[in-house]
Amino acid sequence: MQLPLMPEPAEEPSRASLRAEELRREIERHAYRYYALDAPELSDASYDSLVRELETIEADHPELVTPESPTQRVGAAPSAQFAPITHASRLYSLANAMDLGELDAWLARTAEAVGERPCEFICELKIDGSSLVLTYERGVLARAATRGDGRVGEDVTVNVRTIRDVPLRLRDGAVSDVSLPGSVEVRGEVYLPLASFDRLNAEQDLSGATPFANPRNAAAGSLRQKDPQVTASRDLATFLYAIADPRALGISTQTEVLDWLGDAGFRVNPDVRSCSDAAAVREFCSAALEMRQRLPYEIDGVVVKVDSLSLQDELGYTSKAPRWAIAFKFPPEEKTTVLRDIVLQVGRTGAITPVAEFEPVVVAGSTIARATLHNEDEVARKDVRVGDTIVVRKAGDVIPEVVGAVPGLRPEGAQPWRMPENCPSCGGQIWREPGEVASRCTNVGCPAQRLERLAHWAGRGAADIDGMGYEIATRLVDTGLLHDVSDFYVLTRDQLASLDMDRVRKDGTMILLGDTIAEKLVASVDASRTRPLSRLLFGLGIRHVGSTVAEALVAAFGSIDAIAQAAAVTPPQPGDGLTIAAALAADPLASVDGVGPKIAASVRAFFANEENLAVVSRLTNAGVVLAEERLAPARPQTLDGLTFVLTGALSGFTRDEAAAALKALGAKVSGSVSKKTSFVVAGEDAGSKHDKAIDLGVPVLAEEDLVRIIESGDAPVTER
Ligand code: AMP
Ligand code: ZN
Repeated sequence: MQLPLMPEPAEEPSRASLRAEELRREIERHAYRYYALDAPELSDASYDSLVRELETIEADHPELVTPESPTQRVGAAPSAQFAPITHASRLYSLANAMDLGELDAWLARTAEAVGERPCEFICELKIDGSSLVLTYERGVLARAATRGDGRVGEDVTVNVRTIRDVPLRLRDGAVSDVSLPGSVEVRGEVYLPLASFDRLNAEQDLSGATPFANPRNAAAGSLRQKDPQVTASRDLATFLYAIADPRALGISTQTEVLDWLGDAGFRVNPDVRSCSDAAAVREFCSAALEMRQRLPYEIDGVVVKVDSLSLQDELGYTSKAPRWAIAFKFPPEEKTTVLRDIVLQVGRTGAITPVAEFEPVVVAGSTIARATLHNEDEVARKDVRVGDTIVVRKAGDVIPEVVGAVPGLRPEGAQPWRMPENCPSCGGQIWREPGEVASRCTNVGCPAQRLERLAHWAGRGAADIDGMGYEIATRLVDTGLLHDVSDFYVLTRDQLASLDMDRVRKDGTMILLGDTIAEKLVASVDASRTRPLSRLLFGLGIRHVGSTVAEALVAAFGSIDAIAQAAAVTPPQPGDGLTIAAALAADPLASVDGVGPKIAASVRAFFANEENLAVVSRLTNAGVVLAEERLAPARPQTLDGLTFVLTGALSGFTRDEAAAALKALGAKVSGSVSKKTSFVVAGEDAGSKHDKAIDLGVPVLAEEDLVRIIESGDAPVTER
């Protein structure tokens, strides 16, 4: 009897390993055709079956799994933080040309520098995403980093591995004939396609999360997720356009850079054009402007680059950007739509804001349907009327704005808008102080104002009660459970769980808030008891006490009680025989740096009100901590006495973070430049403050100087 042929145990892994390798090559090839070339040659089902076969082999032979296997895109554990990665060479930003005139000027300057020699330009679309740096070691993806400050970025490797169009290893074709250096660093842009952006925001909306302002923020946010599974679910895509050291690959033009990237398996944007003169460049720019309307992703301009790398070297760099390239920025996109209504919004101080509601339109990548009209005068100045066809755009490409009406399309009988006489919420009188632009609802008991005050307390910058949105707060007010901010702290789990949400199911039963959400809310309310005092003070909504003033008051007094005591002191009036300076000095509130007589008066008025004092004491009784634990400064106060002004966009941190880091070293951070300013830190696109610093001779620091100061704690040295 013959036994069935059993494979030799020692041989089996090697056969499996051959098959696994074969499958990987084939899967990579199809993935490349599908994601990078958008030209699949296999059905989805056949592709999936290849992947499944590979997964089966790898499950049976875990020793065969390689990090670059297509099955290994997701799977890394969530990371606690993003480690720093130093780029092979600095990532510069780009100089901007805001209109065709500036573009021409750059083309002329460049032509002059190049002289008689031929100079070819290459025009690429400027993808509006987030920069990405990929490093391949011996052909295999080893690291992925964000731009960071241009020199050091953040390690986002595990997240980038989940992006399907990023090859986990370079394609053979590109690599075989050149001797590939040990390490290759390539650069490009990661972005979120518009369709995915809309889907993501719809989901964010459903789950109660804040929607992203635009696809660029969504891409950057998706890249910096702690959990790679989340990044994997976001549909990110990439376009690569640069190599850190192209010479090492024998490359001598930007055109060859793009060719090499394409051959190596990267996704390269197909809409590029070689142009030999200014006219061709301009033509591409206007073609791109047209193209913008129908591309499935956002672009914010065209990048024009000198093609020859040796000419690039000759032209060199300024401190911030290459001289051999320029970004032609598109003007903000404008759309026309129909104004349906002008409604009134009531703020927490009673300020009434007219808001335009119009037919939804997609502008610069996202759908908008509302925009503030600020105040009565602004509506009159723009003369927009209900029924008008209006022009809308996004200011700074984020905030919706009404530009004006199209006069020829005004419907007959359209009336100029006038501020109504009564508050839409309480019917109280709307009053406009002579000489002021704002109109107000004068009724302190106005439910809309109360709701706004409660929402302000629960908001991010204040007590930050996670999950307490407008809808729930409204129901709590309507059912009489919530009158003032102290009521948050006596809400019980049962009260919340049985809160009637004023909606009925199809079967006619009422929708209640339910146990799960109630439990979460109780926990968030609890967590909010110990927020930093300055935030809670800000949350009380005292007029003129924004977060900066709240910080100053807390730094000076340390507790609400101490602030209330200071507010109880009646300040001497200048007429009492004192100079203004002496009167100010005798006012404990107004003598705090950053608090003037107007703010001091408002704080006094707040604490003079019995109702407000009662709320504060109920908060304290409910365990809300209204005194600050004074911690010894953690770092030596090496910047004591210095005043910094931050301007422009910083790439490594938000301005708040940078300000906090400077303050932790004892520095003051101010919003405006004066002779007293010690240093101005200028980020990307710094504007008038930067100019003013130069005028006044105030030294200007770059972001990298700031990083050095914060890291070392050393005050910057100047000749001043
Ligand atoms: P900006 O942020 O306005 O200074 O513009 C510079 C950024 O544009 C770079 O950091 C890139 O992330 C981005 N960018 C998008 N598309 C391109 C492109 N085709 N070439 C160069 N940079 C690009
Ligand atoms: Zn009102």
